[in-house]
Amino acid sequence: MYQHLHSKVKNGSSYYILGISVFLFAIIRLFIEKNYTINSHGFSSSDILQSFITSAYNLFICCIPLLIFKSKAKIYLSLFLIILGLSNLLNFVHIFQYETSITMGAFAVMFETTPQEAIEYIKLLSTSDIIIAGIIAFFPIVPFLLLFNKKVDGTKIIIHSLIIFLVALFFVGIQGLSNERKINYTHFSFEHSNIYNDAKRVAYYLREKRKLNKIQDKRNKITIDAAQINTIDSLQQTYVLVIGESVAKNHLGLYGYHRKTTPTLDTLSNLKVFQKVITPATQTRTAIMMMLTRAHVEDINLYYESESIINIAEKAGFHTTWISNQMMYGISDTETSVLAKDANEVVFVNTDWNTNSLDEKILPYYNQCINDSTHKKKLIILHLLGSHFDYNKRYPNNNPHYQLPRSDIYPDHIKNNKYIQLIDHYDNSLRYTNDILYQIIEPLTEHNGIASLVFLSDHGQEVFDRSAIGMGHGSPILVKETVDIPFFWWHNNAYLHVKEQLYDERFLSFLNRPFSSQDLFYTLIDMMQINCSKTDSSRSLINVGFKERPLTILNSDNKIIPYETLEH
Ligand SMILES: [Zn+2]
Repeated sequence: MYQHLHSKVKNGSSYYILGISVFLFAIIRLFIEKNYTINSHGFSSSDILQSFITSAYNLFICCIPLLIFKSKAKIYLSLFLIILGLSNLLNFVHIFQYETSITMGAFAVMFETTPQEAIEYIKLLSTSDIIIAGIIAFFPIVPFLLLFNKKVDGTKIIIHSLIIFLVALFFVGIQGLSNERKINYTHFSFEHSNIYNDAKRVAYYLREKRKLNKIQDKRNKITIDAAQINTIDSLQQTYVLVIGESVAKNHLGLYGYHRKTTPTLDTLSNLKVFQKVITPATQTRTAIMMMLTRAHVEDINLYYESESIINIAEKAGFHTTWISNQMMYGISDTETSVLAKDANEVVFVNTDWNTNSLDEKILPYYNQCINDSTHKKKLIILHLLGSHFDYNKRYPNNNPHYQLPRSDIYPDHIKNNKYIQLIDHYDNSLRYTNDILYQIIEPLTEHNGIASLVFLSDHGQEVFDRSAIGMGHGSPILVKETVDIPFFWWHNNAYLHVKEQLYDERFLSFLNRPFSSQDLFYTLIDMMQINCSKTDSSRSLINVGFKERPLTILNSDNKIIPYETLEH
């Protein structure tokens, strides 16, 4: 067999080599993606075809340079095959680790990791995973070794890889036709090649990185004045801000939902639950830009010129930490990361929304920060992945502890079992967030000094509440479910000595104040008792002098929408 193949190759036919390689790449890829990624449920004929096409795309892309480098075909072919093998290796390691294909965020981590951090990270990986990933990643290029004891004819290889590629395209066309009676052009896209996608991800990362640096340069010119009031400046203090993700207020037991999604929070003492809080925007990025700076619905661009709450806290002597289970770079993330990077310590534990990264991954970093006695005054910001779609990835869904019993009440328009399942996954993710929040609050209850925690969601979420189309969030058409957000405040008894008005019986009425989280910035400054010329206590939710203002939202078309015009 080998002799036969060898002589065929010697006779100039690289069809065999390319064909065997495409076959091996396809089979291995299929096996890994189907067995080790989240949400994989066996093979379909379309999956098998897709895997073969992906492999044909990859090899064709590897062979393209042979057109240019004819005389050094062997060197360049080897180089590109190694790149293909490495691309496979990174993808497989990522799949083993995060149960999803490699992401732009993973490349960002690779580019920004120091050699020391890289070694630490590799130590965390299982050796057998790396060895298995390495063998299966490079195995499909082994047949090419047959070429290397003869002069490689680059032109022939490129023609043959082109033919195999065209045959693959032909089958894509057939598949597109037979499925929908018209050609689906997305099937032809180069997106099916991981080599092409890796290059695109690196380019995307570099673009977002440039954007981040540019915004940082602009914001570095901001002058900050802030100091904590004398009476508490020397006390031990820990302030925690937890930013939730896509948490719908109307799905929380804490706000009267019929399912027990928040059993622990329901019984927690010292919890002040604010009833009428909205987000200024239903997209993560825009909402956070306003929550943590002086930017607001009428002037979102103030974000580029305004100090953040982190800058203010640092100036007032706080050690600041940002721990995130969201992404560092991306169309919805880069602006948030600019603010994160204002902090003294920044930890991103996740690389993408599609990963299996549960919010508990932030806890070891959080506990380390809480136990660190070198800093007396701390501000810790935790950015959760919360209940971001896909809901079933946001909680340990094989743990019966997080399976809420089937409800008797689902909206009337929901007939399809698939939607009922999505609502269940969503509610289960909230049940999980309840536990995460408790694990964040618990160490604070044993705190010696002043401890305070604010939780709010970046925006709400529409989960088939209104129609059989789950709107999610971020649509220019706003509904109450995407705009209303949960907002609560927990503090220990030591805090009561700081804020006298908390003794005031009027405080109960504060819980019904109409408030937009665009004024969170002012509320936190007030909560931390910081003096600062740029603040306005009439915007602070907890201040006696709070002034009610008309509530408005900036929709994703940049139009300002009054809250009262939303359908209730
Ligand atoms: Zn969000």
